[in-house]
Amino acid sequence: ELLINQIAAGEVVERPASALKEILENSIDASATRIDIQLLQGGIKQMRITDNGTGIAKDELIPALTRHSTSKISSLDDLHKITSLGFRGEALASISAISNLVLTSQTDTQNHAWQVQVNCGSITQPRPAALSRGTVVEAHDFFANIPARRKFLKTETTEYTHCEDVLKRMALVRPDVEFTLEHNGKLRHQYPITDISQRIKAVLGEDFMQSVASINEQAADIRLQGVVALPAYSRASRDTQYFFVNHRFIRDRLIAHAIREAYRDVLHLDRYPAFVLFLEMNPSEVDVNVHPAKSEIKFRDPRALHQFIFHAVQKSLARPSK
Ligand code: ADP
Ligand code: MG
Repeated sequence: ELLINQIAAGEVVERPASALKEILENSIDASATRIDIQLLQGGIKQMRITDNGTGIAKDELIPALTRHSTSKISSLDDLHKITSLGFRGEALASISAISNLVLTSQTDTQNHAWQVQVNCGSITQPRPAALSRGTVVEAHDFFANIPARRKFLKTETTEYTHCEDVLKRMALVRPDVEFTLEHNGKLRHQYPITDISQRIKAVLGEDFMQSVASINEQAADIRLQGVVALPAYSRASRDTQYFFVNHRFIRDRLIAHAIREAYRDVLHLDRYPAFVLFLEMNPSEVDVNVHPAKSEIKFRDPRALHQFIFHAVQKSLARPSK
């Protein structure tokens, strides 16, 4: 069972940042409004994520750490209308298969918090713990028990940068949640609750928001909102392309292509445009269950979507800006 978990874990958790992404998604799914992240050595040595969400009841702690155990969907049918970020029920199991995990949680109805630990794959019984509300997930020593995998981790700085990227994506899509990030005891990022344009400024810098075309396009069952940077923004690269579908960060060539084509069409420039775009559509029009990390999705009608995005971006770029 530990071996199966370790193999499967590789698909979800390639590096500390992938664990961080899953843990943050869980906090968001639990309606947290504040999430604090503490990392040691790029997250390889330790990560501790504290949220103020709804918590996990004592009897749910061990199931939460078990593969394919999810509280978020209860039938195959639900798979077609997923609105939570998690649904596979394998993240915590995978993380605990490749690190040592401590899970502490308190709900609104218990007298006190409870804690379980996983050391080298074996889970302890819940023990009383101190925590006023929410959940703390602590993972130590990534891949310590799998030297072959540990070898593939890059330097502390690289792993830290990946963790930062994960935070930025989540911070962009959830301005209604406060985030802090500490690395090796130093506060590196603090994003207080705000509106979307202030949050974009906080995450991507003042200069990004200084020259953007904004987009707000709605059709029958679909809506695109956000900003595309104008050519005056010189730091555009593949790394400044943020696209979210129903609040989930997505990398998709079709979408990047549609935006790039619009840029070329209106501005006669062939380059990577920077953008932060939020697409909302009927969850049944997308399949998020394509890849364990959930960063790829399938659209039911990719051509129509390409057209919609192309026209929306084209229209906003062609509009004379302020
Ligand atoms: P999934 O998110 O796909 O359901 P996970 O392995 O990520 O699977 O988490 C398993 C379960 O643990 C979740 O379904 C949820 O019930 C619970 N859980 C995990 N993290 C938290 C959290 N921070 N707050 C509340 N519940 C949590
Ligand atoms: Mg999850």
